[in-house]
Amino acid sequence: MPGEGLRRAFVVGHPVAHSRSPLIHGHWLRQGNVEGAYERIDVPPERLAGFLRGSAGMGFVGGNVTVPHKESAFRIVDRATERARRVRAVNTVWWEPGGELVGDSTDGFGFAAALDDAIGPAWPATAGTAVVLGAGGAAASIVGALLDRGVASIVVSNRTAARAAGLAGLEPARVRVTPWPVGREMLSTAGLLVNATRLGMAGDGPLALEVDALPGRAVVADIVYTPLETQLLAAARARGLRVLDGLGMLMHQAAPGFEAWFGTRPVVTPALRALLEADLGRAS
Ligand code: NAP
Repeated sequence: MPGEGLRRAFVVGHPVAHSRSPLIHGHWLRQGNVEGAYERIDVPPERLAGFLRGSAGMGFVGGNVTVPHKESAFRIVDRATERARRVRAVNTVWWEPGGELVGDSTDGFGFAAALDDAIGPAWPATAGTAVVLGAGGAAASIVGALLDRGVASIVVSNRTAARAAGLAGLEPARVRVTPWPVGREMLSTAGLLVNATRLGMAGDGPLALEVDALPGRAVVADIVYTPLETQLLAAARARGLRVLDGLGMLMHQAAPGFEAWFGTRPVVTPALRALLEADLGRAS
């Protein structure tokens, strides 16, 4: 655990130039007049363990871990939170005062917090069946968060059925698998539909989904944020459904790390969203 003074945190990835975490944490550091720094560091896989284990000695209080290191970091930390153990990956680490390196997985929390913001915190009770498309790392975090928040019925559809079955194994009483692509009948039961696949991302194929089969009360969330308005969201919006883009999750998943490193809970504001939207606009 580093001594007092300027608190420094990192984002480590390979490559790491694409990460928008420095924009988010830099904004919060400035807005809160927090004496701290957030640094982008490119570390290849073979040097990850050395970097993370040595980070306290380099003066870091912790940091974010991004692609391709999330699963390796899970194996490197001394202790993982319950939600990180569930997905066997970490995106946030910090040093405890006793010298223990802790790993957390905050994506699912970020997704749920974004829904709290957009719909209100009572959404789990009214979600009905939550249909989650995808079974990768992000989908696993989201299913975990939906379980934590008490959603009673979750259906997972994924191109590779075995991965969907793996997610159902988290809690078979509340999570079921439905074949890919998800059919109209299943869509008609959805109170919440989440695209947690890569489909819809710039450079990937679009997500073909019969939006007209969703009930009028459904909320449609897409965690892809490049582009911000995916074809799925545009179609849902055109139908008059409530929609949620991927920026809410991106902003909220960053908050637990900032609090762990700098000791103050940051706030997700329209100004932060505007900053990210401007950056995404420049990148596209
Ligand atoms: P991942 O672990 O690689 O999982 C990718 C998922 O997309 C899998 O379910 C995969 O299905 C599916 N997929 C990929 N190509 C497909 C295709 N051609 N047809 C059908 N399904 C396909 O990735 P991840 O980390 O979960 O990330 C998924 C997406 O979420 C990415 O676009 C990422 O940028 C975004 N994301 C956003 C946030 C945020 O804060 N908004 C946070 C994390 C991730 P298979 O299992 O069959 O391969």
